[in-house]
Amino acid sequence: MIAAILRAMETAPTQFEDIDPAVQCSACEAICCRLPVLLMPEDAIPARYVDHDAHGLEIVRKGDDGWCAALDRDTLRCSIYELRPTICRGFDMGGYDCREERAAWYGKAAPQIPIVVSGAPPRR
Ligand code: SF4
Ligand code: SF4
Repeated sequence: MIAAILRAMETAPTQFEDIDPAVQCSACEAICCRLPVLLMPEDAIPARYVDHDAHGLEIVRKGDDGWCAALDRDTLRCSIYELRPTICRGFDMGGYDCREERAAWYGKAAPQIPIVVSGAPPRR
């Protein structure tokens, strides 16, 4: 029962959330990949990207620059995209949390000029 509720909570935001289609990862510095990511029991990311918080909970390791250790610094894409954690899968491009993080990082006026990186656009 609890598993079913958790599953419903995971899918609910994508179904009901207000998405801004103008927001694109290709014009973003992967700022959501600076957020703490708690690992769920079903997550199976490479051990080198696993860290522990002050309470001993498993989280995704960060680099000294504040971005997730699994983020490719050249392309700003997730290097473990197929294995990315549950929390990352639920973070919708253009969704409420995305827009809030972008507003906090860039200020209320997000950049109009796309950020050019040396590869394909970031993927969440
Ligand atoms: S999901 Fe949002 S915050 Fe994350 S990289 Fe894409 S646009 Fe940026
Ligand atoms: S999407 Fe990938 S790079 Fe971004 S926080 Fe999650 S695991 Fe790290």
